[in-house]
Amino acid sequence: MPNIINDIKLDFKDVLLRPKRSTLRSRADVDLYREITFRNSKQTYKGIPVMASNMDTVGTFEMAQAIGKHGLFTTVHKYYTLEDWKDFAANNPECLRYVAASSGTAGGDFERLTQILTEIPGVTFICLDVANGYSQHFVEYVRKVRAAFPSHTIIAGNVVTGEMVEELILSGADIIKVGIGPGSVCTTRMKTGVGYPQLSAVIECADAAHGLQGHIISDGGCTCAGDVAKAFGAGADFVMVGGMLAGHDQCGGEVIQKNGRKYKLFYGMSSSTAMEKYAGGVAEYRSSEGKTVEVPYKGDVETTVLDILGGLRSACTYTGAAKLKELPRRATFIRCTQQVNQIYSNVAQSE
Ligand code: 5GP
Repeated sequence: MPNIINDIKLDFKDVLLRPKRSTLRSRADVDLYREITFRNSKQTYKGIPVMASNMDTVGTFEMAQAIGKHGLFTTVHKYYTLEDWKDFAANNPECLRYVAASSGTAGGDFERLTQILTEIPGVTFICLDVANGYSQHFVEYVRKVRAAFPSHTIIAGNVVTGEMVEELILSGADIIKVGIGPGSVCTTRMKTGVGYPQLSAVIECADAAHGLQGHIISDGGCTCAGDVAKAFGAGADFVMVGGMLAGHDQCGGEVIQKNGRKYKLFYGMSSSTAMEKYAGGVAEYRSSEGKTVEVPYKGDVETTVLDILGGLRSACTYTGAAKLKELPRRATFIRCTQQVNQIYSNVAQSE
């Protein structure tokens, strides 16, 4: 007989952060940097733990340059060649501390990853990314990468439950990527019926990871800076965003002109767009569970980064967290039936 979990599981849209009395004078007093020593690699990282997703539109070298200046991290997509990596590393050595090289489990991925990590010693993070982090094949891949790179920091995912977070950490991963189905261009929940509300997934997975001195990334589902703050409040050590960073100059792809307006293409890594682009290469990454959208062109990503960081500082001020690290301890979530006043939602905003 199938089981039913009767506790309510929540998404970002279902809650708000409750304000708390605080001694902070201004947002400028909030420290968003975190210093983390990872469980298995023993490496120490210091940065603002917001990450650009390893999608080929968002996880670009240009993105790494632009957001790395602010201390943010980029999981670089896996479609750059070794030569591209060498050029990037030679011209931007200061950016390397905030990038990860990505790999799936497809044929040739391990060899490609090994070449990059061997030739560019400054890259110390690895992002092992598959649609379904529950397969034994993936667990074995994590073990293999850990054995080959004992002191690199390994990100692995995606999963949404505590027991699999533990399994991956015990198999050698340092940071577990959490999220199945919340993404802006993801259609997994429609195609398969599988998923887990993201806020609850983060709360439960953070608890499991922290119990083992591991860490987690909340991956996907953030639609605004407030959602990023909620993900940190729920216990995420890092928050990964795709759609929020789409449409900028630093994203892959050309600007499209249509009826006097500018757009950029943004698509899931298992959408037919990505499949066609990397024919043969993507099929294993995510079965066709992504869509393609035209995102209004947004110019330089700097504005969006400052918006996210401003929102985070303000969330910390409202809840009395002097440091981002303190946010989960200060966070009380209030379940709500409505978050925003919709009255002008269909009216164009004046610039
Ligand atoms: P967003 O920030 O846009 O809501 O979510 C980004 C995340 O969506 C990515 O980091 C990745 O985990 C996930 N994602 C990207 N492409 C696809 C796809 O084609 N299918 C699915 N199921 N998830 C995707």
